[in-house]
Amino acid sequence: MARFAQVILDRSTARPLDYSIPDGWSDRVAAGSRVRVPLRNRQVAGTVVSVSGATSAKGVRPIAAVMDERPQMTPVLMRLAKWMADYYGCDEQDALRCVLPRAVRETGHAPLKRKFAALAREVTPGEIAAMRTKAPRQAAIIDHLQRAGRAVAAAKLVAGPGSSDAALKALVRRGLVSVTAESVRRAPRGSEEFAATRPPTLSSEQERALEGIRPALHDPSANKPIVLKGITGSGKTEVYLRAIGEVLQAGKTALVLVPEISLTPQTVERFASRFTPQGIGVAVLHSHLSEGERHDEWHRVRDGKARIVIGARGAVFAPLGDLGLIVIDEEHDTSYKQDEGPRYHARDLAVVRAGMEPCAVLLGSATPSLESYENCRKGKYDLLELTHRHDGCVLPVFRVVDMRLRSRDGERNDQFISPKLATAIESRLAKGEQTILFLNRRGFFTVLACKACGKTVECPNCSISLTLHRAEDRARCHICGHAEKPPRRCPQCHDPQIAFSGVGTEKVEAAVRKMFPKARVARMDSDTMTRKDAYHETLGAFRARKIDILVGTQMIAKGLHFPGVTLVGIISADSALHLPDFRAGERTFQLLVQVAGRAGRGDAEGEVIVQTFTPAHPSLQFAKSHDFDGFAGHELEMRGNFGHPPYSHIVLITARADTAQKAEFAARTLAQKLSSAVPPSVMVSPAAPAPLARVRGMYRYQVVARGKQIRLLTKAIRGTLKALKLPKDVHIAVDVDPMAVL
Ligand code: ADP
Ligand code: ZN
Repeated sequence: MARFAQVILDRSTARPLDYSIPDGWSDRVAAGSRVRVPLRNRQVAGTVVSVSGATSAKGVRPIAAVMDERPQMTPVLMRLAKWMADYYGCDEQDALRCVLPRAVRETGHAPLKRKFAALAREVTPGEIAAMRTKAPRQAAIIDHLQRAGRAVAAAKLVAGPGSSDAALKALVRRGLVSVTAESVRRAPRGSEEFAATRPPTLSSEQERALEGIRPALHDPSANKPIVLKGITGSGKTEVYLRAIGEVLQAGKTALVLVPEISLTPQTVERFASRFTPQGIGVAVLHSHLSEGERHDEWHRVRDGKARIVIGARGAVFAPLGDLGLIVIDEEHDTSYKQDEGPRYHARDLAVVRAGMEPCAVLLGSATPSLESYENCRKGKYDLLELTHRHDGCVLPVFRVVDMRLRSRDGERNDQFISPKLATAIESRLAKGEQTILFLNRRGFFTVLACKACGKTVECPNCSISLTLHRAEDRARCHICGHAEKPPRRCPQCHDPQIAFSGVGTEKVEAAVRKMFPKARVARMDSDTMTRKDAYHETLGAFRARKIDILVGTQMIAKGLHFPGVTLVGIISADSALHLPDFRAGERTFQLLVQVAGRAGRGDAEGEVIVQTFTPAHPSLQFAKSHDFDGFAGHELEMRGNFGHPPYSHIVLITARADTAQKAEFAARTLAQKLSSAVPPSVMVSPAAPAPLARVRGMYRYQVVARGKQIRLLTKAIRGTLKALKLPKDVHIAVDVDPMAVL
């Protein structure tokens, strides 16, 4: 019976094309197979998405070649790609591209072969003696091989003085040495051998958490996603390790996702040292791998040589078979969202994948995302908690410094390090303890706040602050499109001191150096960390206590152990709070808790000093008392009142063009057409300039759509975009469930 394959071409439209499967090849071609097929007068690469017994297409041509004897994608990954295309409104081809990384899709990253030389036969002392005078280079090679007693990399053999490539060739000709090519693994950093570590005895709390997870590990069809909520240092990672151990024991595999920035050699080591001594391979997947490394790691996973994968967001597509558990650490972290098309969220995909496998899925965080937390409240997810810190440390003391008072006292406003913070730094320097100064400055944004009373100017319809658009002299809301003239006086206290402001890390570093000329100060942000190793070098120096004060952005906030740090100063909590985004409060809370987790992990008590113009803000107050549930309850109530996520889905559509007129026209037309294509329950904002109105020379306008049924929304958007004949030089980006409406 004739069989046909539906093939999506690598460099072509989304629609699959039919090709016939040559007789006798039906075992070799399945969904997920990589094939070469004829297209006009060329051959091109593609992926089989399905196989059928009939076709309605005319003039179907046969598949020319199968590129790999094993399907490259598991059936689950094929389904996941379909799901992605549907949910995120992208082409299936683009979804497949995520599933199958370029290093694997494209030839040219084939396994690295290296030549190895070995003795082909016993060489007698007499032969060597003769060689030493007539051909000393050959003798040197024989000596080397005899000493080694095994095969030696050819490159190594001929590298030493007194030997040469020609000498090796001569030995091969004489039949004394044989050379073979063998695949060698291009191993990423951090994948060397590790000494075995003995697992600690679990605390009763950890024991209880593991018991809560166990049913899902062994009966994955009854699995609900599980949120493991535990403060920093409460032993979540140890619980992951145990759960992974049980899954491996049952012959299955495990996937661990961590934020890119936390994927340090220390993190990998923690997992590898537990499992590699048992002979279980651990693969590492992240965006800094070379293509060769990615190719090799991917194949180790697909071939079952690595049964644990640790990786950043893209690792959610790791070709693990028999998956038993997916762990997403720091599940609230925004780096799980892919920032260019398809803009998927790795946590959400992980949950979907776990449902398809089926397997257990564990979401860990000290500050779960409100989406996940709400799912727990609704009973869709299970919630497990760890409440004690394992190292016996108490949570740090939070002190909030009200920066407004200082202004009133007539002090200089441009001093952004308060006397309280300065004194605290001073005392750390005297005791030889370390300080972290944190500033979450997101470059382009400024805060419109009153310096006298601390009031920030917000949209009347949405709980977000307004953003100034200088060119048009308007203060705008980026959720609903509300616009007003920027106030010249504070709407609350009528003081004319209302102004945009903002301080960057560089400014802080300079100020600290001036204040404490003897202190060793370093700065860590994306400006200073451009070199690949700068990050590890700075962290290494800090850990070795060669730095007293580290000034930085988010980079220093994540999952790092610094026993010497007893003070964390947050220069301004306000820059995060007043981002024009409804998630600003959540971000600030997460950040405060995370940064606080850096203080006092050693034996000295930690202190966190938060400087702010809005000390009464709920995010600060709840963080101060380490009260996640209080914060979440408060925030969710507000989200509910405004109909924001998690009670709705948002889709952000951004039009980009080289002139403002083109971008605006495209966005406006789109908003109009979309409004009439969706039911009234969907809210479509008018087109408005993006807060980042111009990026890399391109003007940006955006439309925000909000509704409860995401598929209805993405379908309408897709249809509208298809029908809308936009000029070629207008680019449209669709972001489903955006992390920020910027
Ligand atoms: P989290 O992932 O929640 O931040 P970790 O799992 O990293 O917490 O644990 C914090 C510290 O406590 C680590 O140094 C870890 O080795 C240690 N730890 C965790 N569980 C135990 C335990 N049961 N017994 C002893 N030490 C533990
Ligand atoms: Zn608004």
